[in-house]
Amino acid sequence: MTRRIAIVGAGQSGLQTGIGLLKHGYQVTLLSNRTGEQIRHGRVMSSQCMFDRALQTERDLGLNFWEQDCPPVEGIGMTVPDPERKGAKVIDWAARLDRPAQSVDQRLKMPVWMDEFVRLGGELVIRDAGIDDLEELAASHDLVLVAAGKGDIVRLFERDAERSRFDKPQRALALTYVQGMAPREPFSRVAFNLIPGVGEYFAFPALTLNGPCEIMVFEGIPGGPLDCWQDVSTPEQHLARSLELLRTFAPWEAERCKDVQLTDDQGILAGRFPPTVRKPVATLPSGRRVMGIADTLVVNDPITGQGSNNGAKCSRIYLDAILARGEQAFDADWMSATFEAYWDYARDVVSWTNSLLLPPEEHIVNLLGAAQESPSLAAVLANGFNNPPDFLPWWLDAQACDHFVNDHMKKGA
Ligand SMILES: Cc1cc2nc3c(=O)[nH]c(=O)nc-3n(C[C@H](O)[C@H](O)[C@H](O)COP(=O)(O)OP(=O)(O)OC[C@H]3O[C@@H](n4cnc5c(N)ncnc54)[C@H](O)[C@@H]3O)c2cc1C
Repeated sequence: MTRRIAIVGAGQSGLQTGIGLLKHGYQVTLLSNRTGEQIRHGRVMSSQCMFDRALQTERDLGLNFWEQDCPPVEGIGMTVPDPERKGAKVIDWAARLDRPAQSVDQRLKMPVWMDEFVRLGGELVIRDAGIDDLEELAASHDLVLVAAGKGDIVRLFERDAERSRFDKPQRALALTYVQGMAPREPFSRVAFNLIPGVGEYFAFPALTLNGPCEIMVFEGIPGGPLDCWQDVSTPEQHLARSLELLRTFAPWEAERCKDVQLTDDQGILAGRFPPTVRKPVATLPSGRRVMGIADTLVVNDPITGQGSNNGAKCSRIYLDAILARGEQAFDADWMSATFEAYWDYARDVVSWTNSLLLPPEEHIVNLLGAAQESPSLAAVLANGFNNPPDFLPWWLDAQACDHFVNDHMKKGA
């Protein structure tokens, strides 16, 4: 008998999983609180830079519709300004990724994936799902996945206090989508700027509704000078504030922005949220159970640009587990075991990301500095974004990290 799966949320994980299931002959109902048109004409939601392993999960499902058009992100760069001398840098290196990353504006991507979902026979329902909807879905489907990202409904899933290091937002976030930024040479990159005591700024190429663009991401330590978006009320003010911050904290980035303009009036965002891990299974008033996926259960600060990558990888793990389950029930044990299979990967992403939200330990400062002298070390740091478990355990252990650095320094190149 054809199995019926319901999914709440038409984002990275919900659509990728829904389309994957349709391709394997499952019946899928997907609830989205916005139409494709509303998403397309709405605010930007993310900077959504995805690295090769996550992109591969999309390629495997034939969902890489923008691969030819989207400008590649060919590397990672790291700059730390000198707090003593304005305009000077204490760390400055860049390394190529083995395979490029890409960022396709979710406003462009999700409506097309929604059309693809419907084309493959999926039932798309436009509704802001509440508990009653979940009850109905759970009664009529073999499994309900909640893929609602940061939507209110995810509070149904209990916060996992042991796995959640923070209970407050660690950064004030802002996005500014622009065109006209001077490219980085000789290869494009996520140009990270770690500004001690202030926060982070990074920028990289992407594809948006009206063609290639660059996305600026601001990560301000709460209460500091980059936590400054509350009084900004128009797109023009948002761009002006973005440029003002660059002139003050990363003048070499401001230099690249002499001719920038916003991609569109909706190409801006400001907000904050606490990085949180939740328990994977929620029980409805009826006693029926629903399961969370991706950001619903593990939401990271964007400082390491991992959320969409996690969403894609989580989707792959869940899809494989659903297929492997065959005709057996999707009971609470299966739900927990499936999430734990994802957590085996995600725990390292969370630990690494969280470590970057705290003032850097000495061994991390040394590591980032040493990468300037050692191209092989810089290559490891760049390519770890594709698979953050490669950073563990040595990243978190001063002695192991120092050994790791010394080994690379001995190699010379
Ligand atoms: C500023 C910022 C920058 C980021 N940069 C990056 C980056 O560079 N790289 C990266 O990998 N990740 C990045 N991310 C994170 C990434 O965007 C998310 O992790 C990813 O989109 C999560 O996918 P998801 O499927 O879990 O949820 P989402 O993509 O958030 O999708 C959830 C969907 O569910 C819908 N929904 C919510 N509630 C309901 C409801 N009750 N009923 C029906 N529908 C509902 C929402 O409207 C939404 O469409 C960034 C995030 C932010 C905020």
